[in-house]
Amino acid sequence: MTGGAYLHKASYLVPVSGDHDLPPVIKDGAVLTRNGRIVAVAPYRELRGSDAIEVDHGAAVLMPALVNCHSHLELSYLARLGQNDGRESGEMTDWIRKLLTEREKGCDPEEIEMAAWQGLARLYAGGCRAGLDIGNLPESREFGRGFKVDLRFFQELLGLTETGIEAGLSLLAAAENDPDLLFTAHSPYSTGPELIRKLKERAARHGHLFPIHVAESSAETAFLAAGTGPFRDFLEERNAWDDSFVSPGLSPIAYLDRLGVLDEHTLCVHCVHCDGDDLEVVAARNSAICVCPGSNRYLEVGRAPVPHMLAKGIRVVLGTDSSASNPHLSLWQEMRVLHEEHPGIEPGEIIRMAGRNGAELMGISDEIGSLEPGCSSCFLAVSGDLPEKANPEAILEWLVSAGLSIVTEWVE
Ligand SMILES: [Zn+2]
Repeated sequence: MTGGAYLHKASYLVPVSGDHDLPPVIKDGAVLTRNGRIVAVAPYRELRGSDAIEVDHGAAVLMPALVNCHSHLELSYLARLGQNDGRESGEMTDWIRKLLTEREKGCDPEEIEMAAWQGLARLYAGGCRAGLDIGNLPESREFGRGFKVDLRFFQELLGLTETGIEAGLSLLAAAENDPDLLFTAHSPYSTGPELIRKLKERAARHGHLFPIHVAESSAETAFLAAGTGPFRDFLEERNAWDDSFVSPGLSPIAYLDRLGVLDEHTLCVHCVHCDGDDLEVVAARNSAICVCPGSNRYLEVGRAPVPHMLAKGIRVVLGTDSSASNPHLSLWQEMRVLHEEHPGIEPGEIIRMAGRNGAELMGISDEIGSLEPGCSSCFLAVSGDLPEKANPEAILEWLVSAGLSIVTEWVE
């Protein structure tokens, strides 16, 4: 709905605002909207009496839309791998092996597309309005076209061998005159240094973000430190190794820093295996980190040191990763897992990671991510087993711990 004035009221309102005069939770709050924009956010008693049409959302929390900063919708058709079919061992390479075996069997493109759309619809139904999506197939950039989710698709390139790197570089050269195409590198253990640098140079030239998987598993750390371990075996087994890659003898973050690809537009995805020095580097370069607690838990790769990231002032956002490594495509569930694993993190901080921080990273925070005058009037009314007569702390606590029991309704 875009025309006219509406006054949306509910028992609670969580504005996630940068306006420090607004409390984090407004009891009996209301949002006044006009012509598709938010005009005012305040307690209902201050806004009632206008000529706006009143919409009473009852026992619900009005809050901004969420942003999913890491997904692979093209893998949605392999969701069974994220439902315990893919997790029989602790090694990440075993899961990747299964994933690639399934992909190599081939699949009807229509089935891939249908599953991707279903994944996107699930994210939207769970309150997600924008996101960063990564895939290998160029046609995956069509997912979400015309849909209500502002989805940015990055085609990721891989290759550690000389031929693999050459192929990636010629693909980039062919796309040189099309700045609208977004590319990125898969990871430091699967994309050669020259290709990573060229991909980042291209992203920087066009003002694109640069999301890259980094420090996800201990196998990755071992591979970059000494060129050995499960990843080396895996690459040799797949003929993806030709001895041209020299292990840098560095942590994944220190290696990316040496390649010169960490800056404020780089999004380091996962960062499970980062020590204090690594986080110091990420903070110094002002790069952002996307944590995917649900996927990390499913693949048993460890827990990202999120409290340390926050203590260093790093911008942290949340992502679901793909349904091939996460049983749930839900940011509510991501918040829940993060809260369970790090109960010391303020719930308000976790809520910002699931929306506002991602909107800022994507450069769309004047539209979504907070309930503030000027922002889009498209936001959420969430309900479920909302605690009765709760204090503000209990409401924030409920939002980050209710997970899949949260009922999301779009206010538009
Ligand atoms: Zn991923």
